[in-house]
Amino acid sequence: MMSQPAPPEPRDRFLGCLLGGALGDALGAPLEFLRLADIRQSFGPEGLRHLAPAYGRRGAITDDTQMTLFTAEGLVEAWDRGSARGVQDVVGTVHLAYLRWLKTQGETSAHPAFDPTASDGLAGIPDLNAWRAPGGTCLSALKSASVGSRRAPLNDSRGCGGLMRIAPVGLAFAEAFELGCDIAALTHGAPGGYLAAGCFAQIIADVCRGADLKAAIAHARDLLAAEPGHGRTLSAIESAVALSAAGDPSAARLETLGEGWVAEEALAIALYCALVARDWADGVVLAANHSGDSDSTGSLTGNLLGALWGQQALPAGWIADLELREVIADLAQALYDRYWQGPKTSPPKGAGEE
Ligand SMILES: [Mg+2]
Repeated sequence: MMSQPAPPEPRDRFLGCLLGGALGDALGAPLEFLRLADIRQSFGPEGLRHLAPAYGRRGAITDDTQMTLFTAEGLVEAWDRGSARGVQDVVGTVHLAYLRWLKTQGETSAHPAFDPTASDGLAGIPDLNAWRAPGGTCLSALKSASVGSRRAPLNDSRGCGGLMRIAPVGLAFAEAFELGCDIAALTHGAPGGYLAAGCFAQIIADVCRGADLKAAIAHARDLLAAEPGHGRTLSAIESAVALSAAGDPSAARLETLGEGWVAEEALAIALYCALVARDWADGVVLAANHSGDSDSTGSLTGNLLGALWGQQALPAGWIADLELREVIADLAQALYDRYWQGPKTSPPKGAGEE
């Protein structure tokens, strides 16, 4: 990997993580439902290497970024409600944020806290009240009167919808594994669905705090190995690390890790692309150009490389085209102002209780 001349400032990592994830999502948006052969037929043998129109505009984000933003908004609220006493009930507050995302999709929930008129914050932004191929598991779980958890799962899904929205947890908390698992388990009940999210949150957390990417992956792998049901996720991480050492990165090699519709495959693809990336765009282009869930793997890789190298690593021309870029940057700043700059708090209540 090419390294920056000096480590990015923490604020640049926050902005790089959320803007980078949104850019990777936007790159993958026109590709999500295309096979690799179709991508090459449409965009040339090198695939799609610049933002292209999807959902009626260039730079459109999808549900991955929408839900990431609602994760961030929930974390900001958890801080603001509890700042005098330490951050409180993070998982419950993020769940309420996800109910507001559900409302933006034109759906309703049987949960008593669902507010069909919610219009504060993100829910009041017209461009976020847009349907961008939301995941069926996220929708069905949030429609429930019950709140999903590791102890009381709502389903046995290991889709990547719990993982693709989790990066803000790693920005906010140095110890992010348990909380990442718990927030993913709001909607995804199989270990594969939430353990990959815990790993990704911890990797983002470590990278933001200056860790080398390989060391961050090793730390997450150690935490993962202590959890029941870790088999698929652990072997996916090990496959990604081994493949990155094989050299000659390509879509064909990437596709040996899977298609990314399930969480452990999406995590493996993102780790592989980040490990072999020569620069931010190189890694994200690799992550989006394959036959699987291109916007989710693009988003995760964009989050990770943005956290690693900071917002300076993002192509300025892409940011100019990015939908809701001010909203995304404002939320990154809001998280930074609280969790990085604010008074240090005790570990969040609710983390690790499941
Ligand atoms: Mg999507």
